[in-house]
This record gives sequence, C-alpha cells and structure tokens, in this order.
Amino acid sequence: KDPRPGADQHDVRHMLYPFANPSHLSRHPPLVIERGAGVYVYDGNGKRYLDGQGGLWNVNVGHGREEIKEAIRAQLDRISFYSIFGGTSNRPAIELADVLCRWTAQEGMARVFFSSGGSEANEAAYKLARQYWRQVGQPMRHKIISLKRAYHGVTLGALSANGITPYRAPFEPLLAGFIQVETPHVYRNPFTTDPQALGRLCAQLLEREIEFQGPDSVAAFVAEPVQGAGGVIVPPANFWPLVREVCDRHRVLLIADEVVTGFGRIGSEMGSRLWGVKPDMMVFAKGINSGYIPLGATMANARVCDAFVTTDEALFSSNAFLHGNTYAGHPLACVAAIANLEIIEKEKLHLNAGKVGAYLMERLQSIQDKHRYIGDVRGQGLMIGVELVADKKTRAPLDLSLNVGARISDACREAGVLLRNLADTFIISPPLTFTHANADEMVDAIDDAMSQLD
Ligand code: PMP
Repeated sequence: KDPRPGADQHDVRHMLYPFANPSHLSRHPPLVIERGAGVYVYDGNGKRYLDGQGGLWNVNVGHGREEIKEAIRAQLDRISFYSIFGGTSNRPAIELADVLCRWTAQEGMARVFFSSGGSEANEAAYKLARQYWRQVGQPMRHKIISLKRAYHGVTLGALSANGITPYRAPFEPLLAGFIQVETPHVYRNPFTTDPQALGRLCAQLLEREIEFQGPDSVAAFVAEPVQGAGGVIVPPANFWPLVREVCDRHRVLLIADEVVTGFGRIGSEMGSRLWGVKPDMMVFAKGINSGYIPLGATMANARVCDAFVTTDEALFSSNAFLHGNTYAGHPLACVAAIANLEIIEKEKLHLNAGKVGAYLMERLQSIQDKHRYIGDVRGQGLMIGVELVADKKTRAPLDLSLNVGARISDACREAGVLLRNLADTFIISPPLTFTHANADEMVDAIDDAMSQLD
C-alpha cells in the first residue's frame, strides 16, 4: 500500500488530461500507475498489470531498467543540464549523436538535431526541409505532403500533417501548404483487395498530387513506416520503395516518422530498414530512450546537412538551421538513450519483437473466428492492432457509443492486462522484452473478456 496520503484518493479535477473527456474522468478516475518492473506495472494497491501499451508505445526495454537508472544517476552527479546552443555543448548529446549516426549508417543519416519529443522532432523535420530548399536556392518548395490517417504530433505543423480528422477540426484553419494523400490501408480502402496493387495505386496518387501541386512547390513527403495512432496500418511491401522512387523523380525530400517504429518495435532496428528504403530524414522519440526522460531527434542525410555547411564562419548566421529548444540534447535524456540503445543492441530486442510479435499475432488470429467482434488482426513485430467491427462480412464499424472496445479493455484491466483502446481498435505495443508466456497471458485475458461480452 502506498504510504503517501491521498495516493489512492487523487482528485482528478486539477488536471486537464490530453485527449480525455473531463466528465468521463470525473465518473471513471484513471488508473494510477505507481511502479513498474520489466513488462509489469503496479497500482497504489500493489495490483499487477501486464503492460500491453508499453507506456505509450515507448517503453521498449521495459520498466525500471537498472542500467538506465544508473546512467541517469551518474549524470545527475556530474551535471543535470547544459545547453547545446553552439557556444557550449554537453558530452552526452555529442556521444548520443555519434551512437545514432552508427545506428542509422545504413540509411545514410549524417547528423542529428535534438528536441524533447515526437511532435517537436517532426516540427524540426518540416522546418529543416523548408530551410534546406532555401539554402539550395529553391525557396518556393514549402509544401509538406502526408497520408490520411497519419499521426505526427500536436504542434501546429505536426498537427497540420496529421490525417486523423477529429484531432484537426477544432484548430482549423491549419497551416497552408500541408496536404494529405491516400493511405494504403489493406483492410479499409475503396480500391482493391490486392495489397501490391494498392501499394502501387497509393504511390501513383502521391505522384499525381506532387504533379498537381507542381513539384517545384513541394518540400517533402512524410509518413510513418507503419501508421500507429491511425490504427496500426501496415503498408504493402512495395509502397515505401515506390514512394522513394516518386520522391526521387521529383526531388522531393522523404521523411520517415519513426517515433514508434524506430529502435526495434516492428522487428527491425528501423522501420525504413524493414521496407529497404533510405529516407532523407528520420524522426525519432519514444523508443529512443524508452521514455525514461523526454527526448526527440531529427536526423538528416548529407544531401540535407551539407546545404548548411557554408564558407560563412559566424556562429550565429542565417546559414545556421534557425530553430531549437532549451531542452534540446538534455544530458539526462541523452545518457538514458545511450544506455537504452545498448540494451536493445545487446539483447537483440528487435529480433525478439519480430519473433514474439509473430507469435502474438498468430494467437490473436486463432481466436478471431470464435468472437463476433474481431474484424481484423494486423501488425508488424510488437506493433499490433485488433480492430473490432459490427459485422465481419461487411466490415461495418461498431457504433462507438456502444462502448464495446471500452468494455473489453475494462474487463482485461480487471484481469490485470492493460490494452489501449483507440476508437474500437486495440493497440498492442508492449515492451520488446515481451515473452511467449506474456503473449499467452494477454491473449487469454482478451479471450475471456470477449467471451463475457459475447
Ligand atoms: N509521431 C508519431 C508516429 C507518434 O506516434 C507520435 C506520438 N504518439 C508523435 C509523432 C508525437 O510524439 P509526442 O507525443 O512525443 O509529441
């Protein structure tokens, strides 16, 4: 039992929760997580939960890792913060940049720009893309194309790139020059049931949009190697290679938003690597240090970075990338990242994610016929979505007000398994240390919860 007064009688009214309805929360207070170890987390009463969300698909190496805590403690003893604004720098940021360039050598990344999270890292990528085109004398190239159902964050630029409409509507008009094209969503699209044909078609639709906008006005195309918040949408294998060709034909920069897919989650070190593609920029956060301290990173290849290396020698010059936040390269976040990446590498967690993820998908598919609501089980590695539907044949979505997903995830929570329910799609993204036994525990809980509801 937590000895702190009020730990289990918290007043939820003092916090405005992200994306959550205050009226709902006043009737259903959130589960307060107090402690974590490995793939399990605990509430104030000591009840244990299997962490099927992995925090918020970020705790790749699991909770409470000694190696990371030790690295943070040691850095705290040296210095907790110093700025990297150029006149000064700090050693962990320099070291981590080196480590990240090694991790992404295959993709040809040359330099890292640090920030504090995924939205900021996306924002930096779009601004870097726009300034890049100015540096090379094409200031008209400013448009950013993204995918419908994309999620890139909440700052106005990242939000403008998002394709999930309910998140956009209250803030309109969003930024000019942000355009969305069709997502290759195999389960839900009006075009075809053939994945390869769909991949080709969506790449063609991107090309047509670039041509319609005028290639000389397009700065970049951004996408997630597997879409996350859009409902775990895995593109057909030909999509990314074809997108790379389209971008090359029109000299458009290709940005991979690897905030969720980077560092092992989908079974390879990088999402782009799974698709065999070298982007011009890669955007990281979450799994980069498993969320121990907020951190974002935007990486770019030599094509982009070299445009900022000029004969102008002043420290503050218009040829610098004119962007940056106080907490860029925070030393505590960077040492956490270095320790985190060492664990992923040493324990080959990307391989475990591939293996256990495939087993988990198989087990979920094995209960699909038995339960009336499971329309689709899809995913890659330990990034899995289970979409609930009203009618399996027609794929008609459920009426969200019936709360079917919420009732199933509540029953799972009762049974000690945490899942994230996003508009009747369960998002499964546990730590990459997940075992076959953990997968069994999770599927058994889902199976029982669904049987109760059936
Ligand atoms: N990009 C992707 C692909 C994401 O999933 C997220 C967060 N879910 C973000 C960007 C935004 O990251 P943050 O919440 O750290 O700002």
